[in-house]
Amino acid sequence: MQYRIDKKSGKELSVLGFGCMRFARGISGKIDLQKAEKLIVSAIESGVNYFDTAYIYSGSEEIVGEILHKNKLREKIFLATKLPFSKCKVYEDFERLFQEQLSRLQTDYIDYYLIHNLPTTALWQGLCTLGIEKWIAEKKASGQIKNIGYSFHGAQDQFLALLDLYDWDFCQIQYNYMNEHYQAGTAGLLAANKKGLPVIIMEPLLGGKLATGLPKKAEQKFRETDGKYSNAAWGFRWLWNQPQVSVVLSGMNSEEQLLDNVKVAQEAVPDMLVPQELAAYERVQEIFREAYKIPCTGCNYCMPCPKGVNIPASFAAYNASYANDFVTGMMQYMTSTAINHKNHNSSGHNCIKCGACEQKCPQHIPIIASLEKVTKRMEPFWVRGIIAIANKVMR
Ligand code: SF4
Ligand code: SF4
Repeated sequence: MQYRIDKKSGKELSVLGFGCMRFARGISGKIDLQKAEKLIVSAIESGVNYFDTAYIYSGSEEIVGEILHKNKLREKIFLATKLPFSKCKVYEDFERLFQEQLSRLQTDYIDYYLIHNLPTTALWQGLCTLGIEKWIAEKKASGQIKNIGYSFHGAQDQFLALLDLYDWDFCQIQYNYMNEHYQAGTAGLLAANKKGLPVIIMEPLLGGKLATGLPKKAEQKFRETDGKYSNAAWGFRWLWNQPQVSVVLSGMNSEEQLLDNVKVAQEAVPDMLVPQELAAYERVQEIFREAYKIPCTGCNYCMPCPKGVNIPASFAAYNASYANDFVTGMMQYMTSTAINHKNHNSSGHNCIKCGACEQKCPQHIPIIASLEKVTKRMEPFWVRGIIAIANKVMR
């Protein structure tokens, strides 16, 4: 495992961090404790020392806390979690939520604490009015928070302005080879680094699309350039090539993924890419842009929809109809949204344009307009007929 120094705290952080949002779940929807435990223990044995969770990742804080406590691993790692600031209406809410998190995580301090998905300076100023700066100062003085930062999915100008509004210890941004100019982007990474902040990277594989959803032509380009790396490895290497990147979070949920990630993390040194590899990324970027129409990462933040529309599944199928082929996309659409097992059709045409989903989307996707496009392509009249018959038969 390679490590990079957090210049602010002097700590050595593993270049590969464990993102705890996408643990495997059982049929009941609960996180599979045994699988999660095996993975977390293996990751730590492989040198991973940065774990990232959040209040709103259903069941994640509790599971992480239980596993670390049971295996006596808390002191071996740096633990990051996030404040759900939208739940803070009065000063006391900061402490109430924080204490709940400490209890869930079975710890009495957090190494890296983030304001979760802070999108604008106006919202930060609102939190300042509630007294968040005083609260942070108290927590840091008591040692309950070691480092304070914010995670970000907004527009670049807001990211840059937020950097200057407070004496942050670190930040977390969405970044990958398809997002150089999106959200904080490369400019945000460089600006944060200039201020001496370690930068934690989320969505390094764009919700898995750069691993399992790459168009075939893009995969071919990577394979012919260097066949020994997986698609995910190509995604990570692009990030680790940049010295300004500190930790790359990976939402690992299988032993195979962990092994693959760890293998590349062992050789993750800055400026390791050769010109031929850099050229391959450029070609893959072109292919990807042509194929992917809706930049949905499948995070599910927009769900549930009051009309039962499965928004991320609709977008995934639509994208697959371009990135792979129409039949693959249609099969995916039929099985994941249009025809389902609860006698309820969750496809896009059920959308009543209430707008509840749009404000929750960290990718700022115009969901209503995008669903219209999806419905037009994926639900022509003959498909509606098939859906109606299939759903009748299944009732
Ligand atoms: S706008 Fe449509 S998809 Fe979004 S929450 Fe409302 S009904 Fe659901
Ligand atoms: S539409 Fe937005 S909020 Fe919903 S899953 Fe996709 S990226 Fe996430």
